[in-house]
Amino acid sequence: MMDIRKLRLTGFKSFVDPTELVVDAGLTGVVGPNGCGKSNLLEALRWAMGENRAKTMRGEGMEDVIFAGTDKRAAKSYAEVSVILRNTTSLHDEDTDLQVSRRIQRGAGSVYRLNGRETRARDVQHLFVQSGSGAHSSSLVRQGQIAQIIQAKPMDRRIIIEEAAGIGGLQSRRREAELKLKQSQDNLSEIQDLED
Ligand code: ATP
Repeated sequence: MMDIRKLRLTGFKSFVDPTELVVDAGLTGVVGPNGCGKSNLLEALRWAMGENRAKTMRGEGMEDVIFAGTDKRAAKSYAEVSVILRNTTSLHDEDTDLQVSRRIQRGAGSVYRLNGRETRARDVQHLFVQSGSGAHSSSLVRQGQIAQIIQAKPMDRRIIIEEAAGIGGLQSRRREAELKLKQSQDNLSEIQDLED
């Protein structure tokens, strides 16, 4: 299992100055008035995990996560988020800390680092998916998602539940397999026709 211990943000959305969120054991609550940046924190986590859909980050393009400036402060040229994790299923005796960082520079795209070494987005995404989390996991619930589930049509709700149960996509894989089977049966009967 991997526990998230800390989140460090710089220049990410409303978090213009370096900010650290410490996640202690147990439950952590983030409270504050509307618009103070609570959702931005969860988005920072999802973004560092490799989220690539700007819409999920409530933006038009990915660079929209960079602090855009206010009347009093100039815009930033980059945003960086680091997630510090503790790997509690390490093969070694001691738990190991892992640091995953993502940085985006205006006009230059994103760079990911794993313990300081540059790595591919895919590797970061895999790391989190393997640990049962990840940018699209059902353990991260966005604002409005609960209402979406309640209001969803039965078929859509089923997709959400299947995803949460980890069996999402099995139906379509089954259909694919059935199609392949049908194709093979057709091929076989064609061969048999030729033999006759
Ligand atoms: P609510 O309780 O209303 O959902 P919240 O605490 O979740 O609010 P967020 O939605 O996380 O607040 O934060 C929104 C704030 O972040 C707004 O003030 C918005 O102007 C600011 N913000 C978002 N993107 C940027 C950006 N790129 N640059 C500067 N500020 C930004």
